[in-house]
Amino acid sequence: MPSLRAPDTTFDSRQQKALLVHDRLCAEYGAPFPFFSTKDPLSELVSVLLSHRTRNQDSHRAYQQLVARFPTWEQVRDAPTEEVQEAISPCTWPEQKAPRIQAVLREISERCGGPCDLTFLAEKSVPEARAWLESISGVGPKTSAAVLLFSKLRIAAMPVDSHHHRVAQRLGLIGPKVGEGAAHALLAALLPPDWDAQQVYDHHEAYMYHGQKCCYFHTPACGRCVVLDQCPFGQERVSVKV
Ligand code: SF4
Repeated sequence: MPSLRAPDTTFDSRQQKALLVHDRLCAEYGAPFPFFSTKDPLSELVSVLLSHRTRNQDSHRAYQQLVARFPTWEQVRDAPTEEVQEAISPCTWPEQKAPRIQAVLREISERCGGPCDLTFLAEKSVPEARAWLESISGVGPKTSAAVLLFSKLRIAAMPVDSHHHRVAQRLGLIGPKVGEGAAHALLAALLPPDWDAQQVYDHHEAYMYHGQKCCYFHTPACGRCVVLDQCPFGQERVSVKV
């Protein structure tokens, strides 16, 4: 496997490439992509916390069991932790996630001075809303962006998951040592500032699909990749017939 190289040297060349790749991947995977969630932002936050390193079907079942047992987030917040843990048992590490979710709900209640609710984030700018969420202990840029974009708030904040990150790194949009957390600001800066939530969602989904369906972790299918001509990693890989 070739090694990752330094990113493209100028901001303009990285931006041009990011948008050209966006167009090709959106065409390849069929954008615009329908949003999959209509949750309010707090429900989305809990759902994202449950989904960490968990298969989708398992975190979905944990979420459904949790809301069936506790109809309000205040009830989840105030319940005995063992009962919350039991309700979310289909997800990974319920013993860690139950107290974590309750702590997040308590922190939100205290800071908002009332019921658990995050709809007020719609009144803030994207950076302000992200900063508010990321000031909650344990909430990072991927979670904050997912809450704002995937929930019914539909705010144009871009999450970067492991697939998106890998594709961006191989394309040379970010450097080989840039982790997922730091990649958020660098990749978001390449997007036109007037893009709406659907465009940002399409960008994230298209890169993610490419990671899932072509740019695999171990053996990327560079020979059939629609952005091979833009990818130094793939070109080296194809030239040495890995
Ligand atoms: S050419 Fe290969 S490494 Fe580059 S984006 Fe395509 S599949 Fe990934």
